[in-house]
Amino acid sequence: TRSTLAEILLPPDAAHRLVDLTPAPPSQPLCLDKANIEFGMMIGEGNFGQVYRGLMADAQGWQETVAIKRLKPDGETAGQISAKIDELKREVNIMKELRHPNIVQLLGLVESDDDGGFMCMVMEYLPMGSLKEYLKTRTDHITDTLLLKFALDIAEGMDYLEQRRVIHRDLAARNILVAGSQTVKITDFGLAQTPNRGNYYIRQTNRALPLRWYALECIEHGKFSHKSDVWSYGVTCWEMFTRGEEPHLPQKPDILIQQLRIGHRLNLVKPCPDGVYNKLIRPCWDKEPQARPNFSTLITVVEELQA
Ligand code: ADP
Ligand code: MG
Repeated sequence: TRSTLAEILLPPDAAHRLVDLTPAPPSQPLCLDKANIEFGMMIGEGNFGQVYRGLMADAQGWQETVAIKRLKPDGETAGQISAKIDELKREVNIMKELRHPNIVQLLGLVESDDDGGFMCMVMEYLPMGSLKEYLKTRTDHITDTLLLKFALDIAEGMDYLEQRRVIHRDLAARNILVAGSQTVKITDFGLAQTPNRGNYYIRQTNRALPLRWYALECIEHGKFSHKSDVWSYGVTCWEMFTRGEEPHLPQKPDILIQQLRIGHRLNLVKPCPDGVYNKLIRPCWDKEPQARPNFSTLITVVEELQA
């Protein structure tokens, strides 16, 4: 049987814990010819992009199902569009260096020759869609054992990102995709950054930010770090174990800051188990970034909860 491109780029036996930090080999041409891409139906939409199912032909003429993300065709000025194209290029530049079983694999970029209207990124296709949808639609079949496996997958993907010095900045159930009944992968690197100096990144974007997933220092000072990703990991686990609840926090920045400052956090909501809330989720929301666990510690915490 023939392997898919994602399998060639990412062998299924790739050891989960042994992260290879050597630069990724230039195994695939990143630039894809738009003649080899065929759009199918739209499968998802976020704040920024539209995602389609599609077909991609490889050199041997095999057709492979892929996911294609392109900018939303909003009526905007040329300047706004070109700023968005730069953001999409940045997303590709970060994603193209990443190879991990719990990170959605980028396959390439289709560049436009004109005003950028056609520019889109091509990724491996995950037919089961986003974790947010999955939590809402499969509620009856989801066990805590399965969710702990998902929590482990996300922590392992995030630990890899931390080693690669990538801050995700948009970790949430809507940006996790379900790969099979037992595995999830992190996607949407649209807000991701690599810190240049020190270990944090100061916000420079006009995009709407997912404040209810953010640590206090992100909302107050625009200061992002691996430890602010840890905060968002806690909110993502809270979404999982509550089976897709909306985080019940104020949307207005000033009110949110006020409440977080006085120690207000998302409550334990059933059916989230006490142990998961107290040992895994709550420590991610410590006011002090240094006091939060890092992702390798979180892997151990999940493994202890699994035992
Ligand atoms: P945005 O940057 O606009 O938020 P995302 O990359 O988060 O875009 O994708 C939006 C939605 O599209 C996801 O929540 C998911 O439902 C769907 N989606 C994205 N990538 C894939 C993929 N590779 N396979 C299947 N569905 C996907
Ligand atoms: Mg998204």
